[in-house]
Amino acid sequence: MSNSVLEKGCARTGEGMLFIVSAPSGAGKTTLCRELLTRFPEMKLSISHTTRAMREGEVDGVDYHFVDGDLFDSMARQGRFAEWAEVHDNCYGTGIERLEELRMAGVDVLLDIDYQGADQIRSNYGHGIFVFILPPSVEELERRLRGRGTDRPEVISRRIDNARFEMDQASRYDYIIVNDELPVAFEQFRSIVIAEHCRARRVVTP
Ligand code: 5GP
Repeated sequence: MSNSVLEKGCARTGEGMLFIVSAPSGAGKTTLCRELLTRFPEMKLSISHTTRAMREGEVDGVDYHFVDGDLFDSMARQGRFAEWAEVHDNCYGTGIERLEELRMAGVDVLLDIDYQGADQIRSNYGHGIFVFILPPSVEELERRLRGRGTDRPEVISRRIDNARFEMDQASRYDYIIVNDELPVAFEQFRSIVIAEHCRARRVVTP
């Protein structure tokens, strides 16, 4: 039995909400998303399909569904993605079946996707809560990426160039969290979810 604050108070109406979270790599998005899912266990993470090679420690079906280019292309052609995009030379997509199944069952879904995918969800669904996570500065982002040690230097340089562009997209989101201190950023993230649950149109009044 979950003890989440989201399950207390008034009953809620309708379909699950889509929480779309984007950030340049190194902004701390993965940590924040993990914390959020621990705090709100009734929320589910959308597990994307990707053509990217598996990194050490990653698990197929948990971190991503790792697929080859041919399978990804055929899924895209068959309209089996709610959105998909090319990010850092690899393809990433959100499977539509699982997303719809959860949403229609009233389950909130967290989508960790880039700004191109967020644009597609915005236009395909017409709703969703869009959250952008920013690092405190580009210098700090660079320090975090190098410290992580998971990517080659040239990959890191490209990610930093991309980050500058991605950060310019933040103003198109509903909420911006600057992840300077993790506990503060997490409180902000958590508060967004709680506030969205209290929207008048989502609550069945007694
Ligand atoms: P990484 O390779 O570091 O796991 O992810 C690289 C980027 O791809 C991240 O910005 C992540 O948000 C994005 N991404 C992951 N899954 C998806 C997806 O299904 N669709 C889109 N558009 N982007 C994704």
